[in-house]
Amino acid sequence: MEKKPFVTKEQIEEIVKTYPTPFHIYDEKGIRENARKLKQAFAWNKGFKEYFAVKATPNPFLLKILKEEGCGADCSSLTELMLSDTVGFSGQEIMFSSNVTPEADFRLARELNAIINFDDLTHIDYFKGIAPFAETMCCRYNPGGDFTLNNAIMDTPRDAKYGMTKEQMKIAFAKLKEYGVKHFGIHAFLASNTTDNGYYPKLASILFRLAVELKEELDVHIAFINLSGGVGIAYRPEQSDNDIFVIGEGVRQAYEEILVPAGMDDVAIFTELGRFMLAPYGHLVTKAIHEKHIWKEYIGVDACAANLMRPAMYKAYHHITVLGKEDLPCDQVYDVTGGLCENNDKFAVDRALPKIDIGDYLVIHDAGAHGFAMGYNYNGKLRSAELLLKEDGSLQQIRRAETPEDYFATLDLAAFKTTEETGEADEKDATMPKDRIILKLIAKQ
Ligand SMILES: *Cc1c(COP(=O)(O)O)cnc(C)c1O
Repeated sequence: MEKKPFVTKEQIEEIVKTYPTPFHIYDEKGIRENARKLKQAFAWNKGFKEYFAVKATPNPFLLKILKEEGCGADCSSLTELMLSDTVGFSGQEIMFSSNVTPEADFRLARELNAIINFDDLTHIDYFKGIAPFAETMCCRYNPGGDFTLNNAIMDTPRDAKYGMTKEQMKIAFAKLKEYGVKHFGIHAFLASNTTDNGYYPKLASILFRLAVELKEELDVHIAFINLSGGVGIAYRPEQSDNDIFVIGEGVRQAYEEILVPAGMDDVAIFTELGRFMLAPYGHLVTKAIHEKHIWKEYIGVDACAANLMRPAMYKAYHHITVLGKEDLPCDQVYDVTGGLCENNDKFAVDRALPKIDIGDYLVIHDAGAHGFAMGYNYNGKLRSAELLLKEDGSLQQIRRAETPEDYFATLDLAAFKTTEETGEADEKDATMPKDRIILKLIAKQ
């Protein structure tokens, strides 16, 4: 599939007058259209709900758009819960699918009346000491072994830290029933970034069969099956995109085959997609600021792995478009790099691109999920701004860029003495006020 940016060179030249590169920019129109498609693909299921995986793109402006499209929020930490609460997701519009969960996180999740998804059997008694059980609760399943699709191994659940074995699921449900839980959910995430329309249907069959077994053995009401995340996108132009309608239809068939005959036709389907919801609708926009000709040809840009970690961390492919040069031949081969003192800070390696000139703007595609969110401050690099291209064509800054003040803000400088001052006359308190140090630090910019 051809990869076209949702912004033009002219638009970016206008935007950079106010917001210098690098920045992440999101496309509201694309986000809404895609969310509506997902909803339509699962419209056959009365209780269907997508709980957007907040970790993928934790920005309240984007969460609000998804909420308006009928989505809930999937959280796994205290701050994600706080953010979702602030956006206005209420009670059962929040799934709390965490692991290695601290007490405070469980407590807030319960206070908000979120649906809690237990990652482990031991968490149930841990939770018992923290808060009362709710009427509806969920457990996460790990079937072990390999997850295969059409005889190909897609992932290896036996090596994954998440979820419970089948025997543990049974013990967990029995325990929860004893503690007063009335409605149960089953959750599993068995393969990430899948590009086969068969992933969700296969996962659904596994979970539907387990649901029938649990219901029959333990006489419990299964209220929902949460297929979690994992539906991928085509990062490479030669890949084809998932067809969400084929996926929805595949899940429907498994539902008809397995759940309906067991008298379980009231089970709601939930999803917790992150990447599928937002990745294609976010670009990282960066400017070529250096070129270098040594053993290879390099283009240095003003963004780095601190703005988008996936290429450095997973050797992930992200397509690059040189704005204004969309139609030129890709007759150069470059490594496109950021400025971290880390040789894996490369957005592209041996990539065929049109000839790049200093000052050209590059769009790094599919950065809308697990992009900004995975950002970090290594080498003292600052996180960029996030901008929203609205449906009416206007632009809104939805997160400003970090400043040096932000970077230094968590240092406990109140008690810090510079070497200069430590050596000064002893009767004088040589402690430098925090504000003065920060001013001094930023004056050097
Ligand atoms: C990360 C995550 C998701 C979202 O995964 P995607 O690959 O972005 O779809 C959903 N649920 C849980 C529990 C997760 O950890």
